[in-house]
Amino acid sequence: MIKELLIGVGIAFALFLGYIHVIQLMPLLFLVGMGVALWVLLQRRSTAPAATKEAPVKHNITFAEIGGQEHAKRELQEALDFLRHREKIKSLGIRPLKGILLTGPPGTGKTLMAKAAATYTDSVFMSASGSEFVEMYVGVGAQRIRDMFRRARTTAKKESKDSAIIFIDEIDVLGARRGQHSHQEYDQTLNQLLTEMDGMSTTQSPLVLVVAATNRPDMLDTALLRPGRFDRQIKVDLPDKEGRLHILQIQVKGKPLAKDVNLEHIARETFGFSGAQLESLVNEAAIIALRQEKTEVTQEMFRDAVDKVLMGEKTGRKPTPEELQRVAVHELGHAIISEVMRPKTVSHITIAPRGNALGFVRQIPEDDRYLHTPEQLEEQINVALAGCLAEELHYGNRSTGAQNDFVQASGLARTMVKCGLSRIGIVDEEHLPESVLDTEVRHILSKQETNTQETLKPFKKDIADFAQHIVDEESIGGAEFRQWLQGVLNQHQIASAKALPLGELGTEVGL
Ligand code: ADP
Ligand code: MG
Ligand code: ZN
Repeated sequence: MIKELLIGVGIAFALFLGYIHVIQLMPLLFLVGMGVALWVLLQRRSTAPAATKEAPVKHNITFAEIGGQEHAKRELQEALDFLRHREKIKSLGIRPLKGILLTGPPGTGKTLMAKAAATYTDSVFMSASGSEFVEMYVGVGAQRIRDMFRRARTTAKKESKDSAIIFIDEIDVLGARRGQHSHQEYDQTLNQLLTEMDGMSTTQSPLVLVVAATNRPDMLDTALLRPGRFDRQIKVDLPDKEGRLHILQIQVKGKPLAKDVNLEHIARETFGFSGAQLESLVNEAAIIALRQEKTEVTQEMFRDAVDKVLMGEKTGRKPTPEELQRVAVHELGHAIISEVMRPKTVSHITIAPRGNALGFVRQIPEDDRYLHTPEQLEEQINVALAGCLAEELHYGNRSTGAQNDFVQASGLARTMVKCGLSRIGIVDEEHLPESVLDTEVRHILSKQETNTQETLKPFKKDIADFAQHIVDEESIGGAEFRQWLQGVLNQHQIASAKALPLGELGTEVGL
């Protein structure tokens, strides 16, 4: 208070002197400016620990609340056991772990894992994100790192806990290879982290364990991965079907579900979803129930929610009646080929515009797949091409609505060539001339185009009716579509090897 007053009086006096030309004003103003700048800088430095200023987060997330990830959970628990059974570890002379690196795509539960680790080991939990350590001023990040470790220890002592877990999210931001940035700040911060970890005692209480997360482990400075630092890497991948089911079961807890809800079915349809997306899906479904003023969440609401998470919110676009008809024909083409080539893969057909799409067919993957045979890739190319080819069959011309389909189809064809599944056989991707790749992609596409045209032909007369039905209903479930398709197949006595198994018709509910 007194300081500010003196400064004020000083400035006023100087201005007064300047006014009466007793002293030169400019150099004085310059000096004052410098002083203020220096003062601000020092202030920033002394308040550096902003990154972890908040009190350690209190939570009680347990491993039971993390769905799927069985492998990662087991590995992490094993690694954590040294904190729980210290005597045993000591008697065997094992060097305890200092750092664990969780790697995997966003939303798979890495943060949850770190929190569960703290609960499991009864540790203080502190978290920060890599980006919080990156500042314009050299030295600030390093100061924050120092502070975080100190705070972890003092808090553990205060709460009389034996250990503390420091969680650093997005460690790639501060842990990228040194020397890559023009800015020294990054290097200093990373060096400080390494120093802290090297200096961490592995015998004295409280023990500190650093858990870090990244989806770019390849970016990290190799010094971080050396023994004694993050020497345990645990992969937290996208969940498989069982994992998704488990996550859904966890997420629907406390939500009133209608009798027709089949979580297994939803798990099957959500290949590629992360835990965070599944959480959002369940939440969206409940919001739909609220909007419709229902007291229960139904399977159909889940279906809409999947569409929303995949394709985006319904848009207000209003296609003309002719356009709607054409979209229905187009989508019906996709659906017919999908079902003829791989029975029971159509989840539903809709012509309600969503995101960038005017309509779409959602396919149910038969199973999670990580490898594909050439037949499967070709089938998928056929499905992609079938939209515009159905338009051609029905109207005699195509439209601009198939751009994305073509991108998808040529992407699949490209994969085939690069994986050595085309007629030119094994290739070295790096030395494959663009022109050769192009020729092969064209060859594959035109061959499958003919194939799709042939497969669609028998349906020429029947497309119009059912397309109109889609226009009237906006959305058609897989079961109803299959029933129609089977009828048409019977009528034409199409005895294809891939014709639909009659016995399984209409056994599905909802979707
Ligand atoms: P990450 O750190 O890998 O990006 P988070 O742990 O922050 O992912 O997950 C974000 C949210 O997604 C969580 O709060 C939770 O609701 C949900 N979630 C993600 N993975 C799972 C999982 N395996 N089990 C249950 N919920 C999950
Ligand atoms: Mg996270
Ligand atoms: Zn299409």
